[in-house]
Amino acid sequence: MSAADRADDLSMNETPYPPLPVLREVVQDGAALLNRYPDRLSGALTAGLARHLDVDPGTIIVGPGSAGLLQLMVQAFGPKPEVVHAALSFEGYPLIARNAGATSVAVPMDGHRHDLSAMADAVTDRTRCVLVCNPNNPTGSVLHRDELTAFLERVPADVPVVIDEAYRHFVTDRGVPDAVDLHRSHPNVCVLRTFSKAYGLAALRVGYAVVPPGLAMAIRMMGIVFLTGSLGQAAALRALEPDVTAELERRCAAVVEARTKLAADLRGLGITVAPSETNFLWLPLGDKAAGFAEAAARAGILVAAMPDRGVRVTIGSDEANARFLDFVRSLDR
Ligand code: PMP
Repeated sequence: MSAADRADDLSMNETPYPPLPVLREVVQDGAALLNRYPDRLSGALTAGLARHLDVDPGTIIVGPGSAGLLQLMVQAFGPKPEVVHAALSFEGYPLIARNAGATSVAVPMDGHRHDLSAMADAVTDRTRCVLVCNPNNPTGSVLHRDELTAFLERVPADVPVVIDEAYRHFVTDRGVPDAVDLHRSHPNVCVLRTFSKAYGLAALRVGYAVVPPGLAMAIRMMGIVFLTGSLGQAAALRALEPDVTAELERRCAAVVEARTKLAADLRGLGITVAPSETNFLWLPLGDKAAGFAEAAARAGILVAAMPDRGVRVTIGSDEANARFLDFVRSLDR
């Protein structure tokens, strides 16, 4: 499938930009060693991330996308039976909990936001871990430093709290903390990040986490020898260099600008749009969600429907956003 064929796929929260030429070059160069196994400990990338984040390399674990890594983490956190998360959050959480032999405890939302107080109430001696998505997929909402700190004070220190920051590069709200800082003050905080979104490397499947050192070791010992491939490791390491980060910051700023414009245009058409600090918008359409997404698909535009809840629309290229807006205008509402 060509890049043009995917232009109107606004369902996966991917970047609309083509891969950066320097990152394509790294992948092409890496092809010379396709016959060789990758570095099984992702040593260079781990060291690069440790420098980038100013943390001990022993606290970093690199894995097969942040979803694959989270799966391993939840297994490693075992054996307690319950995984606590917000009811309208990343759809992977209940699946990951189930795959790890746990029950997912979905805590009702406070509007479009996590109800951290109710989530703290849900933590018991059966809790294996808590998953907090900040900013949240699919609602786009954020949690602030003071709220998270108060929450962490209520969670026992032996219960891991994963803060999933897949969309952190799109946050402009200064009250949102860097979860690595929270990890420094609360060692049970595990920070989960990905190269799939702002870095635009979704196809390569690279994610990482900052975790207590004992856990990093436990995951490495779990029997999966090669967690990530060489091409992904090399591209992710290159992506941490200042020239690439500067360009990615420009791209994220453009996505934020497009997000602000699309949200305003949709509101101008009478559509309710939740405030978003991500690269997508949440339209709480309730029972109209499925019909809306089907009509969009008939118009050639893919959006993600959460039946009876709403629709999540990724910020695409300016052209794709304009086509989406035209589609909404064409609806008989
Ligand atoms: N966390 C969140 C909140 C996500 O939205 C996603 C992907 N949509 C992931 C994790 C997983 O991303 P990846 O496996 O590509 O790193």
